[in-house]
Amino acid sequence: MSDSLKVIKKVLIVGGTHGNESTGVYLLRKWQQRPELLERDGLQIDTLLANPKAVTANQRYIDKDLNRCFSSAVLNDKSLQGEEINLAHKLVKQLGGKGQCQYDLIIDLHTSTASMGANLVLTRHDKFHHTMMAYMSKQRDDVVVTSEAEMIPDHHFLCALADKNLIVEIGPVAQGLLHHETIEKTEQVTYQLLDFVERWNQQNLTDIPSKLTVYEYTGKVCFPTDENGNISATISKTIQGKDFQSLDDEAIVFNTMEDKDIVIGDIKKYREKFSYVHPDNETLFLSFINEAAYYDNQFAFCTLKKKTIDL
Ligand SMILES: [Zn+2]
Repeated sequence: MSDSLKVIKKVLIVGGTHGNESTGVYLLRKWQQRPELLERDGLQIDTLLANPKAVTANQRYIDKDLNRCFSSAVLNDKSLQGEEINLAHKLVKQLGGKGQCQYDLIIDLHTSTASMGANLVLTRHDKFHHTMMAYMSKQRDDVVVTSEAEMIPDHHFLCALADKNLIVEIGPVAQGLLHHETIEKTEQVTYQLLDFVERWNQQNLTDIPSKLTVYEYTGKVCFPTDENGNISATISKTIQGKDFQSLDDEAIVFNTMEDKDIVIGDIKKYREKFSYVHPDNETLFLSFINEAAYYDNQFAFCTLKKKTIDL
């Protein structure tokens, strides 16, 4: 039996990888009080509060984004220091590194300030991950599957320590906020994922769609800046909240301090200035539009292309 078809015995549900994404942190506390909610036949399900110091500080991270620390390049770089680097090494020891992780599946719960819906992030192309995403797409009409599998073979995500993994990214919700609907949605998605794992183990998955729609990341676009490096335009109200909708060259993306509109066509014309790398022959989709967590790098949104995978 190939690795991807193995029975799943141990699942780890992670919250607080980003300290100001309070939904996962809240749910971990709820499940600590009510562990029966996570009980599933034949499964050991544990939880992990990934970055407690960042949670206490209500910050995404203390020194460095923890969810960028788990590639071999970062873990093997002895010159790197700081809270999250130390934490990453500690977590590798505790959970086991890539290929040796004691968990068969890691589910990492995140939120976004962008309209991501119930975004499930695919980091691997195999039968298990494709079936899980197709199952979830059928269960819920707000599921959007994005893929990072092509971009980053040795992934820097915490969840990528386990062979089977995914990120759940629910939004829009403000950072640090306990928002009923977001918490409820994240909780439902978690239970649906656990139902899937139970049925996967029982080989009781007969109604999986034969096609899976996936948005594949192609790059990130920077905000326009002035001569001092300060952001000099806002995301346009016409695309705010319009994640995963196709955009043509006339679509207005920024509104400048001079109240001028910047359209997709302008970004394509001055692609280096915006670090725009989306291929011209692919219909353009955006996600993480105006994501608050990306302001530290002055990223305005991500670009994606859409594709269909035959299962
Ligand atoms: Zn996050």
